[in-house]
Amino acid sequence: MDMSQATPNDLDALWMPFTANRAFKQAPRLLARAEGMSYFTPEGREVLDGTAGLWCVNAGHGRRQIVEAIQKTAASLDFAPGFQMGHPLMFQAASRLAQITPAGLDRIFFTNSGSESADTALKIALAYHRSRGQAQRIKLIGRERGYHGINFGGLSVGGIGANKKQFGPLLGNVDHLPHTHMQSNLFTRGQPEHGFELADAVEDMVQLHGADTIAAVIVEPVAGSTGILVPPKGYLERLRALCDKHGILLIFDEVITGFGRMGANFAADLYNVTPDILTMAKGLTNAAVPMGAVAVSNEIYTQVVENAAPGIELFHGYTYSGHPLACAAAIATMDIHRDEALPARAKAIEPEWQEAVHSLRDRPNVMDIRNAGLIAGIELRPRNGKPADRAGRIMQRCFDAGVLIRTTGDIVALSPPLIIESSHIDRIVTTLGEAIAAEA
Ligand code: PLP
Repeated sequence: MDMSQATPNDLDALWMPFTANRAFKQAPRLLARAEGMSYFTPEGREVLDGTAGLWCVNAGHGRRQIVEAIQKTAASLDFAPGFQMGHPLMFQAASRLAQITPAGLDRIFFTNSGSESADTALKIALAYHRSRGQAQRIKLIGRERGYHGINFGGLSVGGIGANKKQFGPLLGNVDHLPHTHMQSNLFTRGQPEHGFELADAVEDMVQLHGADTIAAVIVEPVAGSTGILVPPKGYLERLRALCDKHGILLIFDEVITGFGRMGANFAADLYNVTPDILTMAKGLTNAAVPMGAVAVSNEIYTQVVENAAPGIELFHGYTYSGHPLACAAAIATMDIHRDEALPARAKAIEPEWQEAVHSLRDRPNVMDIRNAGLIAGIELRPRNGKPADRAGRIMQRCFDAGVLIRTTGDIVALSPPLIIESSHIDRIVTTLGEAIAAEA
């Protein structure tokens, strides 16, 4: 089907995810085609992509190399089971991924999404402690304003009330660290100076629950979905040290921060802090086929797998773990990242990106601007009694003016493809600045 001709005349059947369905269906915003830095509506209007889709199309849209790898694989191996069977591409994709994950995180488990990666990581942490005879380590510690997807585990350790309130009690074995947003860090460029001691809340958890009941701490190195919270200098280091002190596993959710987004392969590389488990998705396949992955330390793999009794070592997995099309897309994506040095490219343009986004500081109602790698958050003053209204209208204005941005509450979140050039930065920031002014 030619997507540019796809103008649905019946919007009723689809229940859209994380969408105000009724408002959307009154005035749909449709994207029918994508190429490079841009989307195109069914009518052919160009919309510059300031969000890399949903933080995921890091290498830009419509990459032929990825398309051809998917086509070729679809024609030769549509599917092969990954339970007690395998196919060459899943091993090849895991080896390639292990080459770019931080040193020591060399064992790869495949999933189909960031949410599945979060739940997989939490379950592996529990299985690890149990296999060492520490079955009492069942507490999972997340962080306020954290997002780890929407499955029961990730949702439970997540720190976004709105995502939980429709669903009653979730996992009971969780607690949360405080978030890292501080008034004293407003308008910081890059990593904030204040707040590393917020990591000491791990000690509070130990006091409260007992160290020997805690299995893992899970955080996003940079919280994305709640509006770009960049870790204060020294914070991640301190988390690492405290987890080590108490035998707690540290999990980084790098679903957004992975694959060059931070100007390095992973935030763990940029900040020089290595977790025990690292979750991924999104940029792994450039979003061309759904895929997620969990990288675990050799020690965890050895403990859970090599030391197990004969037979299946971990009763966990998905029908589509390591799907051939996803593996083909992942390998082609990693080729592009290597050949085009995308993380280095992101790093090179980051100073210009930072300058540009911080130039919005004097626009009306801008309360804070935060940035890291090729991500930025612009926090706006909510309208009295109408939370998210201002940002929502700004998003619509930008879309009408040909720029796609994303908003979360009254925070604008930007995360363009890493192939962005100066002219695109200009267009995104100018259009956004005008929209902010128009909604004063
Ligand atoms: N973890 C983080 C940090 C994310 O940002 C997201 C999605 O935005 C997820 C997990 C969930 O990923 P998915 O929507 O692929 O399940």
